[in-house]
Amino acid sequence: SEFVKEEFSQGMLRSKTVEDILTPLKDCFMLPSSAMLDFSTMSEIMQSGYTRVPIYEEERSNIVEILYVKDLALVDPEDCTPMTTITKFYNHPLHFVFNDTKLDAMLEEFKKGNSHMAIVQKVNNEGEGDPFYEVLGLVTLEDVIEEIIKSE
Ligand code: ATP
Ligand code: ATP
Repeated sequence: SEFVKEEFSQGMLRSKTVEDILTPLKDCFMLPSSAMLDFSTMSEIMQSGYTRVPIYEEERSNIVEILYVKDLALVDPEDCTPMTTITKFYNHPLHFVFNDTKLDAMLEEFKKGNSHMAIVQKVNNEGEGDPFYEVLGLVTLEDVIEEIIKSE
């Protein structure tokens, strides 16, 4: 029945975590903050098909900003605008969540905020050195909704 289905999907949202559904860092389409918005970079962004592009500094694990494709509306590829000029101008907030965040809590966060993407990190305390934050990947509202649909 509908009731059973709803209980099932709510149980799933309470038990599954963002780590279970994220897009792993190695599969994320991202660009370095040193990129120039020339014709080649802008074509690459368009061809990726993604709406949000994390921007990293030095290493892919160091995400510092986020570019929205709509930020490019007024950018002329002829000008070879530095990526940072655009990201600093729009300055969209970056959201980080921990890997053990449950999907119900994530859904509430997405509903509250105006961003529908979060960067998933975990505290890595394996190995000899001090614990550090490790970026695992990204999760979007779409990933949570997909999980709900799958469970129905
Ligand atoms: P929108 O649907 O708002 O236009 P989108 O299609 O770019 O955005 P989502 O619909 O939010 O992205 O997500 C679709 C899938 O793509 C999800 O699995 C999400 O994790 C993944 N995804 C989103 N952005 C990226 C990216 N930059 N690199 C790799 N995967 C991404
Ligand atoms: P995105 O979140 O992918 O950047 P968006 O903010 O343009 O896209 P949605 O998030 O899909 O749009 O929708 C937000 C709300 O705005 C919805 O209520 C939708 O019906 C409405 N909406 C979307 N596009 C338009 C439009 N061109 N004119 C008026 N309302 C719109």
